[in-house]
Amino acid sequence: MAENIDITEQINKLIQLQQIDTEIFDLRSKKETYPARTKEIDDSLEEKKEGIKNTEEELKRLQVSKNEKEADMQAKEGQIAKHQAELYQIKNNKEYQALQQEIDSIRADVSLLEEEIIGLLDEIEAAQARCEMEKKIFEKEKQKTAEEKESIKAEEKKLSERLNDFASRRTELAGAIDRDILGQYERILKNRGRIALSRVNGECCGGCNMQLRPQIINEAKLKKNIVFCENCARMLYAED
Ligand SMILES: [Zn+2]
Repeated sequence: MAENIDITEQINKLIQLQQIDTEIFDLRSKKETYPARTKEIDDSLEEKKEGIKNTEEELKRLQVSKNEKEADMQAKEGQIAKHQAELYQIKNNKEYQALQQEIDSIRADVSLLEEEIIGLLDEIEAAQARCEMEKKIFEKEKQKTAEEKESIKAEEKKLSERLNDFASRRTELAGAIDRDILGQYERILKNRGRIALSRVNGECCGGCNMQLRPQIINEAKLKKNIVFCENCARMLYAED
């Protein structure tokens, strides 16, 4: 450090630099959240799409089942017609009764199938309604999603512009700070993240909230040297 450095002036510049760096840190942190936010929006939409696909598959399955039962019912009605024709040719009473019983049993099957088909028709109707509703919701959501993504993009652009603005202000300001002091400050910033220069808060370091020794506080107030927190190693400044 050069001998003739005005520490008070350097600290005042560091305070401004820290303000800019805090802004830059926060803006960058915010910027990092954008990809996750966009992905979340995309995932949510994809989930709804998947829901529609599931409902459509369910609908298909119900329709196939209904068609099978209808075909089964038709076959059984054919059997009944055939057996009824056979009844006329039977002379033996016992055989007649046996065939009549067979017809009754098939009829019972048919009426069971009818009930099942009616049940399936209800299920198909409900699935169709659900499918239509899901598609409507999806379309609305798709529009909303596009708008949200557009707004995130605009926000991100504005944020990038602010970041650029802060970056150029930082370059200018950093140029006016002693190189050694700036080097120390930047090393701390890199290690600590958001704050390299903390204010003395009463008897504590504003960065880590640990109590400072009175000597450190006095030195910070004197502004003859750059002083550091013995706990978190951040630079300290005291307000007059
Ligand atoms: Zn500290």
